[in-house]
Amino acid sequence: MLLPNRTKIVATLGPASDNDEVLAQLIRAGTNVFRINCSHSDHAGIIERIRLVRRVAAACNAQIGVLADLQGPKIRIGRLKNEEPIWLKPGAPFIIVSDKNVVGEDAKPGETIRVGTSYELLCKDVKPGERILIDDGNLEVVVEKVVGRDVHTEVVYGGLLKQYKGINLPGTEVSADILTEKDLGDLKVALEHRADFVALSFVRRASDLRLLGKLIKDANSNARMISKIERPEATQNLEEIIDESYGVMVARGDMGVELGPEVVPSIQKRIIKLSLAASKPVITATQMLESMITNPRPTRAEASDVANAIYDGTSAVMLSAETASGKYPVRTVEIMSSIIRRTEEDVFSHSGYAPGTSADSVMLAPARASLAPSSGRPDIALATARASAYAALEAGAKVIAVFTDSGQTARHLSGERMSSRVYAFTPHEETVQRLALSWGINARKINKGMTSQEETLEGEKVLLREGICQPGDRVVMVFGTTRDPGMTNVMHIRTL
Ligand code: PEP
Repeated sequence: MLLPNRTKIVATLGPASDNDEVLAQLIRAGTNVFRINCSHSDHAGIIERIRLVRRVAAACNAQIGVLADLQGPKIRIGRLKNEEPIWLKPGAPFIIVSDKNVVGEDAKPGETIRVGTSYELLCKDVKPGERILIDDGNLEVVVEKVVGRDVHTEVVYGGLLKQYKGINLPGTEVSADILTEKDLGDLKVALEHRADFVALSFVRRASDLRLLGKLIKDANSNARMISKIERPEATQNLEEIIDESYGVMVARGDMGVELGPEVVPSIQKRIIKLSLAASKPVITATQMLESMITNPRPTRAEASDVANAIYDGTSAVMLSAETASGKYPVRTVEIMSSIIRRTEEDVFSHSGYAPGTSADSVMLAPARASLAPSSGRPDIALATARASAYAALEAGAKVIAVFTDSGQTARHLSGERMSSRVYAFTPHEETVQRLALSWGINARKINKGMTSQEETLEGEKVLLREGICQPGDRVVMVFGTTRDPGMTNVMHIRTL
């Protein structure tokens, strides 16, 4: 039996993948979570996509999560007259008017090109000398002065300016609200239709998440927050952001524009390391198999990029345009799955733990281990998870079966990054769907209202019925003697 990969795949939906047949193929190829990019969806589109995922996942009997990715305060160039692109010459003057109703047009002789922007606080935020990047940084202008709502700039790197292209302000403190009116509407719809995760774009600090968290709570939703790390301020406030989030995304697209491509690899490693230490899911995103938007094979550099994110310890790897609008959505997921499979084989070829993880250093090298609790505060579920991971390796257990309500103990086991397979059993559909994002966790729904003993017997039956275990296999069972959150306090080594 071919066991599932441990590293999860997030695939973005779009015209290339929004139908029952392709979606089923994407699930069979190894997709675990579907991302709805709200930047390219209206309310009806969000609802349709969530329904589509739920319908096809049920038909495939697959445990699939849905992530609604809010656009956030994305700043854009306004409309251009007759949609005609404008040529920006290096050294030429160029005015951006902080007014969304201004229709941009080329300059008449002796005048300066003027275009509008969706961001009406631009003139308040920018200062002379600051850079404004347009169209993913392909165009660059520098601010000379601000007169009223007009931001006077000089073109540094020129080219063809098209309407609605994105603007990035790398050195500017952006005062835009973290949630726009569009985000609030999209959030309401996504929560009403029970998205599992909500991703917040352009997060700057933990208070951005507290605001979103309150809206989610007020809507009586259990959706979990994923912070997209792409702004310079976020990299400075990383610990507090990770602490406040359910998980994070290394959003390398905007990060590369805001901070420069040369800093992306080191920030990626830092984000993954901190997330892993906190047992939180981390998604590495953007341009992973970019050339497969048009080609049937990835470049060697792309294959290495996916593999290196796995060596870094990422929980999930993400596809954007590759599955949303590319020519080969299914083949891209197949290739990604095969890179993951091969890399995981290599990762575990020498040890039961992925190198560099807390488990590797704490469990396998007691001489180096600190005796203080690793999280800084006593945590019974973490203690039981760590002990179980170690016991599974020592006892030669084929599987760890964890019985969980919220999924927290399963996430602690995920954080151990060990080779043993982990099956999480829970009576809650939401927990099953949420665990789709957690590295190494395979979740199964069991009936509600059972005692711990009944649950473990049910878990054994599922492991045997699905052919994951055979009679005689050893299994480490992990559960709590009470259902109180965080009280996972039993580890039982069983032979089936
Ligand atoms: C990114 O910037 O890398 C990202 C994932 O966000 P978006 O696709 O919304 O630009």
